[in-house]
Amino acid sequence: MKGKLIVVSGPSGVGKGTIVKTLTKRREDVVESVSCTTRAPREGEIHGREYYFLSKEEFLRRIEEDDFLEHDEHFGNFYGTPKSFVREQLKQKHVILEIDVVGALNAKKAFPESVLVMIAPPSMEELERRLKGRGTETDEEIANRMQRISYELSQQDKYDYVIINDDLETAITALSNVIDEDESK
Ligand code: ADP
Ligand code: 5GP
Repeated sequence: MKGKLIVVSGPSGVGKGTIVKTLTKRREDVVESVSCTTRAPREGEIHGREYYFLSKEEFLRRIEEDDFLEHDEHFGNFYGTPKSFVREQLKQKHVILEIDVVGALNAKKAFPESVLVMIAPPSMEELERRLKGRGTETDEEIANRMQRISYELSQQDKYDYVIINDDLETAITALSNVIDEDESK
């Protein structure tokens, strides 16, 4: 089977990670791509699981070697999708990329057959509550992330699907159905 490339975007704190991780645990035919980043690991994050944590020098070297499907800078750090990982996984499985709007549109250029899915919050208040509740960013980082949100949500019409993450189980099922629906095309 040749898998689909599913690109999931949405504002920081909307629940992308929670949805994608639950789905990849439940479905053996779905895997999440592991991106590279130059940001420091958060507590509990493991190299090769959440991200490949690279030095800036190493990241820049890999850009030179054309090793990224797409890459971008957020909040002063670099993030990129390694081409080799995605190509290898797609031989067997559906691959989910969890990336921001700009990265998603670049991925669509590189892989036109990819399916773009936006995860949207039920409300701005709930989004801020989740972001604060996660407790992994400083107040300044939260303020920076909230500023990007209206831009990200304004790009919804460029996406193939929009899923509102109100009830978590409903959102997980919706993403699973998108993969299956798209399979029949
Ligand atoms: P993202 O990956 O989009 O930045 P996370 O998956 O880290 O977001 O989720 C942010 C916070 O919101 C987490 O604490 C998570 O447990 C919580 N969360 C995710 N989905 C829901 C939901 N449907 N209802 C309530 N809380 C949620
Ligand atoms: P975080 O630091 O919260 O894990 O991620 C910050 C931002 O980087 C999020 O908007 C996330 O979607 C984005 N991001 C994560 N991985 C990649 C990637 O491989 N490429 C791009 N362009 N953005 C990414």
